[in-house]
Amino acid sequence: MSELNPRLHEIYEEVLRRNPGEAEFHQAVFEVLSSLGPVVAKHPDYVDSAVIRRMCEPERQIIFRVPWLDDNGNVQINRGFRVEFNSALGPYKGGLRFHPSVYLGIVKFLGFEQIFKNSLTGLPIGGGKGGSDFDPKGRSDNEIMRFCQSFMTELYRHLGEYTDVPAGDIGVGGREIGYLFGQYKRITNRYESGVLTGKGLTWGGSQVRTEATGYGAVFFADEILKTAKDSFEGKRAVVSGSGNVAIYAIEKIHQLGGVVVACSDSSGYIVDEKGIDLELLKEVKEVKRERIEAYATARGGATQFVNSGGSIWDVPCQIAFPSATQNELDGNHAATLARNGCKIIAEGANMPCTPEAAKLFTEAGVTLAPGKAANAGGVATSALEMQQNASRDSWSFEYTEQRLAAIMQSIHHRCLVTADEYGAPGNYVVGANIAGFIQVADAMTALGLI
Ligand code: NDP
Repeated sequence: MSELNPRLHEIYEEVLRRNPGEAEFHQAVFEVLSSLGPVVAKHPDYVDSAVIRRMCEPERQIIFRVPWLDDNGNVQINRGFRVEFNSALGPYKGGLRFHPSVYLGIVKFLGFEQIFKNSLTGLPIGGGKGGSDFDPKGRSDNEIMRFCQSFMTELYRHLGEYTDVPAGDIGVGGREIGYLFGQYKRITNRYESGVLTGKGLTWGGSQVRTEATGYGAVFFADEILKTAKDSFEGKRAVVSGSGNVAIYAIEKIHQLGGVVVACSDSSGYIVDEKGIDLELLKEVKEVKRERIEAYATARGGATQFVNSGGSIWDVPCQIAFPSATQNELDGNHAATLARNGCKIIAEGANMPCTPEAAKLFTEAGVTLAPGKAANAGGVATSALEMQQNASRDSWSFEYTEQRLAAIMQSIHHRCLVTADEYGAPGNYVVGANIAGFIQVADAMTALGLI
């Protein structure tokens, strides 16, 4: 806490007091506040008007019961959440996460991050996030459908294309968005395409949405490389996770001439020195929904599956994309990566690096692209999906990808310019936090006491 100036420190103390036991939320708030010192020194109004304090308090938090029947006819009960954090820039926008670890503190950390991320895209979207402690692993399609229908039966009354527009996150992909949208449509009797994003291409979805977060993170890293007059050509990369973000990050790295040698899931990681066979990975993960070990078994040869001792961050690489979950990369992992010559970390996941890891990267001269900026391509393309829904239009893959690439370039540029302006040249964390913050703070100020 010594890193915060006294006025920001007071705000942080209040956040701790008002939100006990929500460690991830505390971490996310601290991370943003620790960048804002130079801003409040220049513009004390942001503290005087309590705009920062207000930003730390969600506009609305919804918690609800989700009862559903499993395939054996037993009643199951989960808890649903939607935190509508900030609508100064537009309707609440942010994904839904289905994972047993979900509780209010996780949803609030994700919703808080989303405010600044959405602001950085330059598109008119506010910040929100939701989910449930439901564990989709091992559940049948019918169970997933019944759960999604029950979840939406409560959530629908809080949504709307001008109110709150969820999308996917961990455990929520195209299948779940389909069941959720189907139930919303039945209850409301409206084909309101713009109420959810990540839809299928034949029923209101956008080209490139599936690929957007992973592609966007790679476009962002490519901008970092270009700034140093370098490229992906021949670079060795490691991508953690093997879900939506990881798979499409791997695809784009390979398209740009890099080679990804390792990826993972929560059961372990695989090392494939020849480069990940993406078609096989998609077959294992997207079609068969198997564990990552099945990739190594099917690939054979020298591919290794490792599930004990060490971590994926022991695999030497020049660029790393942590793309699984929060706090998956700690100080020890960061030290190993830096020692092995890693130069760039682009966060595909939200808050995957612990504060110790982030500090170590800065000290070791490793460039850290924070999730708020690097993984903003997903929500940006969701906003493009909303644009297409509103105009009853549907754009080509090439056009949508160009729009995504341009947005990522613009975010990269904004981070660099802002970091320079506030005395932290080349620091993407500071640049992203300040640029995202100022736009939202100014909008809140213009809208009166909200
Ligand atoms: P998926 O559910 O598609 O994939 C998640 C991957 O991460 C899986 O391989 C999963 O392994 C692994 N994982 C999840 N939790 C853990 C854990 N506790 N320990 C180890 N591995 C874990 O999710 P996404 O790819 O959509 O999301 C990944 C990250 O990217 C999240 O942080 C999400 O918030 C962030 N993100 C996603 C966006 C999107 O558009 N989808 C947009 C912006 C950020 P297993 O299957 O074994 O659980």
